[in-house]
Amino acid sequence: MTSGASRSYIVRTYGCQMNEHDSERIAGLLEADGMVRAETEADADVVVLNTCCIRENADNKLYGNLGHLRPWKDAKEGRQIVVSGCLAQKDRELVAKKAKHVDVVMGTHNVHRAAELLHEAAAGDGPLTEILDEAVIDDHAMFPSALPARRETSYNAWVTIQIGCDNNCAFCIVPAVRGVEISRPYVDILAEAERLAADGVTEVTLLGQNVNSYGRDIQLAARQAGDTEAKLRPLFGDLLRDVGAIEGIRRVRYTSPHPKDMRPETFTAMADTAAVCEHLHYPLQSGSDRVLASMHRGYTAERYLDKLAEARRVVDDLAVSTDIIVGFPGETDDDFEHTLEVAAAAEYDYAYMFIFSPRPGTEAAEMHADFVDPAVAGDRFQRLRIVVERSALLKHQARVGRVEEVLIEGPSKKNRDVISGRTRQNKLVHFTPPHPMRTGSYASVEVTRAAPHHLEGRFVELLAEPTHKLRIPVNAL
Ligand code: SF4
Repeated sequence: MTSGASRSYIVRTYGCQMNEHDSERIAGLLEADGMVRAETEADADVVVLNTCCIRENADNKLYGNLGHLRPWKDAKEGRQIVVSGCLAQKDRELVAKKAKHVDVVMGTHNVHRAAELLHEAAAGDGPLTEILDEAVIDDHAMFPSALPARRETSYNAWVTIQIGCDNNCAFCIVPAVRGVEISRPYVDILAEAERLAADGVTEVTLLGQNVNSYGRDIQLAARQAGDTEAKLRPLFGDLLRDVGAIEGIRRVRYTSPHPKDMRPETFTAMADTAAVCEHLHYPLQSGSDRVLASMHRGYTAERYLDKLAEARRVVDDLAVSTDIIVGFPGETDDDFEHTLEVAAAAEYDYAYMFIFSPRPGTEAAEMHADFVDPAVAGDRFQRLRIVVERSALLKHQARVGRVEEVLIEGPSKKNRDVISGRTRQNKLVHFTPPHPMRTGSYASVEVTRAAPHHLEGRFVELLAEPTHKLRIPVNAL
């Protein structure tokens, strides 16, 4: 098999935005190799399972899915199965050992080799496992955005600014499967954002595990190379300003910042740059200083709230969301009360809340003796949910009567006559349009009703039509 011509593929993605972005790269690489996208597995010659090990029982689910793919593979000669992503990085040779019908297992740093690995597996006589432990620093292709991509939407795009993470949060597997933090060169990020804007993309989301430490490694490397004049590293705030200044980019978002690295300059850049949306995802994880220390988060609840107050003072009309883990090992009733207090004080617009469950390979997974009774954790979760939904509803009610700019995402999943979109604060809005509207358009909508998880509105006027061209693959370099 020398080219992917006339063959088709399907990618199934599990997990976070970084994984979704990796899936876009895998799809782009396969299309650049001549393959076409299949709508269903039945039509596909290649199935890629891009895995995540953050969720509970991820490994059982993967091996269950692989079991279901056995008859699919046997039904047609030449079919291939690829397992990629964090679980592949973690389980390595185990994947092919447990599921002998898998053709390629590739790690998080091997995505750029997707097409070649499929050819090599077809030419060889057995499954192929390729896992790099670290990204190759001077190889720009290691950055997800620096590869062909098949984006799922044409009007918005992720731009990777950094890969890996230098922190060691006790509950998190990311440093083990994504490696150390490496910042993408500043000029490459801007060049990609400019190309996206030229393609008609109007909203970009800057993506990294810890965006506020962007550039730390660049400056360190410059100093080690003897550049004593190396100016203060390019700061994340500089990136916000420069990406926001690109003509055609109407909205800039980012995820995720780490509270310990949040800098005043970031808030100032958000306030000064019209394109940067008024939304901050600001992960709390716990409101108890004792639990935060045990998680190795590097901040206290007071410090967290102080920075949040500063963000709200500097950035007008800021919406704030968060992540919270309930029932982290050793969490007492008193610890949890602190989480409730901080959540109430923070007045979140929404929150992703999780009951702790151990992820194999993490420090927290070894804290068996301190695991919280599931019934107690479940009860705490419900109490926290009430606090968050109360503030979310109040925040949403405060929008009623306001006219908001909405980026149209398409028909609502529940009612095709209704259109859904997002405000600059990242709130979901449903409204009935007076005439068909294209995905990627901007409209102003008056908010008429608030619910805890969405808004409803009345169309006011069309602000801008989309300018994006037909869909990809986009060659980013
Ligand atoms: S900052 Fe913590 S939670 Fe975020 S990716 Fe790094 S280790 Fe994981």
